[in-house]
Amino acid sequence: MNLLEVKDLRVLFDTRDGEVVAVNDLNFSVTPGETLGIVGESGSGKSQTAFSLLGLLARNGRASGSARFRGEEILNLPEQRLNRIRAQEIAMIFQDPMTSLNPYRKIGPQLSEVLELHKGVGRKEALAQSLAMLDAVKIPEAAKRLDSYPHELSGGMRQRVMIAMALLCQPKLLIADEPTTALDVTVQAQILKLLDELKKEFNTAIVLITHDLGVVAGLCDKVLVMYAGRTMEYGPVEDIFYNPSHPYTQGLLHAVPRLDIPGAALATIPGNPPNLQELAAGCPFWQRCSSATEHCQTDAPVLETFGEGRLRACHLESRELLEVV
Ligand code: SF4
Ligand code: MG
Repeated sequence: MNLLEVKDLRVLFDTRDGEVVAVNDLNFSVTPGETLGIVGESGSGKSQTAFSLLGLLARNGRASGSARFRGEEILNLPEQRLNRIRAQEIAMIFQDPMTSLNPYRKIGPQLSEVLELHKGVGRKEALAQSLAMLDAVKIPEAAKRLDSYPHELSGGMRQRVMIAMALLCQPKLLIADEPTTALDVTVQAQILKLLDELKKEFNTAIVLITHDLGVVAGLCDKVLVMYAGRTMEYGPVEDIFYNPSHPYTQGLLHAVPRLDIPGAALATIPGNPPNLQELAAGCPFWQRCSSATEHCQTDAPVLETFGEGRLRACHLESRELLEVV
């Protein structure tokens, strides 16, 4: 059974210049313990997708469609119920840990308070569990760290504290929005390895949001590739990686840094994502796509099944696509 099932999710923002569709008819699911990567450039709607699930959209935003978590509809729930879900069942971590850590309080009380508040655990026991969790996220000298302020830790250590805090209430789902983007490459690899170990240890499902397709390779089971708020491609990670079926995915793959060839130049996708306010008919990617035809400019491709458990939106025949790769 699915832990999370998202159907026809749309996120709209009211702006001075009219309505903007930030997320358009998105469909995906996550089973218990599974990791889904949501990949795309900035502005593709990845974060807004996550925010809509947790009731965290900006005031001028609204979501429609359906998102069922453990069978319960969670889109547009009353704030009180959402607070409970956010505290105990779905946790979220962000690129910058300082957005969630209080700079003026020591790590220990910040962690243990989560358990006291949401699980009714006594202070002593809460501190003991916090210490165990700091150990689980491999923070050296964890006992000493309970007494540290956030600024006394490195960026990587702070992200480990965030992960510890997110996992304290044993959520079924962890949403990680660019959790390693601000970190250097070595620390980034360590944090990703940690997430991989923790998901196995705690059987937590993860939705990993990233602009870097390379990041999802080792960690994810499934990948959703988003562009201009829409699904370009969706399927098992091996398929997307070794046999991408969409020109945009191919572009993202070419932009993955090659660790095996030091100094290798990255092929970036020319141009920029479209302004969502000016999105016309046709494929949203056509201006940047080297395979675009006239047809692509006038008719948007619909999302269609493409092999086993896979979806993609592109007019190209698979034969033509192979020639592009
Ligand atoms: Fe490129 Fe056309 Fe496919 Fe869009 S539909 S990705 S423009 S080939
Ligand atoms: Mg974002």
